[in-house]
Amino acid sequence: MNFYSLINKSNVANFKEALVNGIAPDRGLYFPTQIPKIQEELLLNLSENELAFELIKPFVGNEIPANVLHQIIEDTLCFDFPLIQLNNDNFFLELFHGPTLAFKDVGARFMSRCLAYFSKNATEKVTVLVATSGDTGGAVAQGFYNVEGVEVVILYPKGRVSLIQEKQLTVLGNNIKALEVDGNFDDCQEMVKSAFLDKEIVSKIKLTSANSINVARWLPQMFYFAFAYKALKNQGKPIVFSVPSGNFGNICAGVLLKKMGLGIHHFIASCNANDVIPNYLKTGVYSTQASIATISNAMDVANPSNFVRIEAIYDGNLTTLKQDISSYSFSDEQTKIAMQNLLKKAQYITDPHGAVAFLGLEQYKTLNPDCIGLALGTAHPCKFLGVVEETIKSSVHIPLKIQELLTKEKQAIQISSYEDLKGCLLT
Ligand SMILES: *Cc1c(COP(=O)(O)O)cnc(C)c1O
Repeated sequence: MNFYSLINKSNVANFKEALVNGIAPDRGLYFPTQIPKIQEELLLNLSENELAFELIKPFVGNEIPANVLHQIIEDTLCFDFPLIQLNNDNFFLELFHGPTLAFKDVGARFMSRCLAYFSKNATEKVTVLVATSGDTGGAVAQGFYNVEGVEVVILYPKGRVSLIQEKQLTVLGNNIKALEVDGNFDDCQEMVKSAFLDKEIVSKIKLTSANSINVARWLPQMFYFAFAYKALKNQGKPIVFSVPSGNFGNICAGVLLKKMGLGIHHFIASCNANDVIPNYLKTGVYSTQASIATISNAMDVANPSNFVRIEAIYDGNLTTLKQDISSYSFSDEQTKIAMQNLLKKAQYITDPHGAVAFLGLEQYKTLNPDCIGLALGTAHPCKFLGVVEETIKSSVHIPLKIQELLTKEKQAIQISSYEDLKGCLLT
């Protein structure tokens, strides 16, 4: 399959090029030249891994042999996506049982293994360079850990990520190098951008990014929407997903799956106070503002980069887009009350992102009560331990793998300028 740039359609890349480039040379996002059609009845009889294979195969084409792609899928899907029933028609779809307890594990694992395949016979190593404000870094570090032929350099802002997040970045070692930047997330991102534009660096090392707009992180997110749909379809009611959305990559993968032919009824893009998209769907006016800090901070995104892909799926037609997608915004106060109510009424503990998803589902259901609703749980509550425990006034279980992680020694290189980064990359 080829992918074109959403800025200039004549910039075309195959799957490998789109993966390695990350973003098109004109800085547009890559989008598939055709949207494959699937036959639901055939797919839903398959096992989960076979189903995932059939969904992703048209996008990868023959660039990765079938047996290798099967293995990549098996490695990617090494954990479960349980459905937790809250009451008759409402569920949480928990996506956080992977190595870093974040749904981003799926995309990061798939991308890392594809990149490893493509760089297998390369003489030079590929260096993945990323800046993280928290969760992305951990998923990328774990996804690429010990993947042959790939070095990973992660920049994170000193003192601004949680203890668990920092450990996830810094204790692995081997091919994972963590750089603790004396600055904020924007400084980290600025340094990464400068490195990609630095002629000396790109002439000496092969750099690639692993951010969430990469097609190899975006597309595999279809898998768990399909698994949940398959599990609940027999109940005979319309199925709706509420997705806690920041950069809109996750929901965009679900929407693509619907466009490919899976009978999902509707999507809800649930947002925190960063409400550009809810406002856009309400007023038709797209106006951005600076991002607002909230307790669901992985969604503190002012200008969601993947929204252009959703518009492309609907050929820019806002009316048809709105038939399939609703979007609402919720305050931190509402989010906390939802966390408390979920514990009280359903004995369910969720992190703030999951609570925002649940709020979106509730709001949609006030007008559309007769459907099966799934709220996506994108992070384990222990990843936001402070705010969760303070809000629900009870303690959160910390999984064994995280307890072990916390005993390990942090290894990070302190840097404070672009020259420092350059030094690290070139040695
Ligand atoms: C990244 C992230 C999101 C937002 O996902 P997008 O694909 O950027 O919309 C939601 N919740 C958590 C916990 C995240 O880490």
